Amino acid sequence: MGSEKKGTTGDLELVFAEPKGFCFGVRRAIAALEESLELHGRVYALGSPIHNPQEVERLLSKGLVIIETPSEMPMGGAVFVRAHGVSDPVMEELRSRNALVVDGTCPFVSKAKEKAALLSREGYTVMILGDEDHPEVKAIRLSSEGPVTVVDPLRLKSFDVEGLNKVGIVSQTTQREEDLSALVSGVSARASETRVFNTICDATSSRQRSVARLAGSVDGIIIIGGKNSANTEKLFEIAKTSGTPTLWIEDEEGLERGWLEDKTRIGIAAGASTPDWLIHRIATRLASAKSAREDGW
Ligand code: SF4
Repeated sequence: MGSEKKGTTGDLELVFAEPKGFCFGVRRAIAALEESLELHGRVYALGSPIHNPQEVERLLSKGLVIIETPSEMPMGGAVFVRAHGVSDPVMEELRSRNALVVDGTCPFVSKAKEKAALLSREGYTVMILGDEDHPEVKAIRLSSEGPVTVVDPLRLKSFDVEGLNKVGIVSQTTQREEDLSALVSGVSARASETRVFNTICDATSSRQRSVARLAGSVDGIIIIGGKNSANTEKLFEIAKTSGTPTLWIEDEEGLERGWLEDKTRIGIAAGASTPDWLIHRIATRLASAKSAREDGW
């Protein structure tokens, strides 16, 4: 259950949605990456390590090199696997290059991969609730040996289970419980045997609930996070749909004096890929808002 934290800054009261910022898996992965950067100086990341441009910039300045395929890294180099994880074949390819693997795969993602692989081994057709282009879903899919179908939550009314007997269901970790329930009832009604592992993690939904709660009690809400972050975008949509004036910023440069002018109680929320240092920097900038208003900031 989330809560709120308050802070008064001049004539502005800031109310922070809780939880906010890095989720457990991202915090754990970035800590492992930092440790490895300190140890090795140069670390290769397979894909962008996090959906936050400012955090990526900081990590690049410490020696991170982003690559798209294992073949781009030198033999024996240190390679970071982000929280979304990679498929078993990709992990094998990394090991075949004698890579020192810094595995930041979130344990919740590993669990989804393991359950899908187990279902596959036991003869189930695996059904994954999720976005088929998402790296996590690709990793789950490629870790299963048998047939796999990905069901997009937007297609829950039209997916096909024709001819399937044993169906095993797992979910991308960030999907909604309601959508998983809808998929399970749809499949159970048609397949002769259904087995389900609920692999949803609460990190994104708890942030969404806390923004929804906060939106009704503030004059405006600031969402902090990368414009390339899907979970931050969702927080923005929830806040905006509530009717509360909403501003989505990546850093303090996005703060608008005009937007702040008529507000005294401001809610702050941040996506699961937004680092604490960035939230803190923006709160500090807001702390100067009173004098800034007077100074024409
Ligand atoms: S959202 Fe959940 S599954 Fe994904 S990295 Fe965070 S804690 Fe792990």
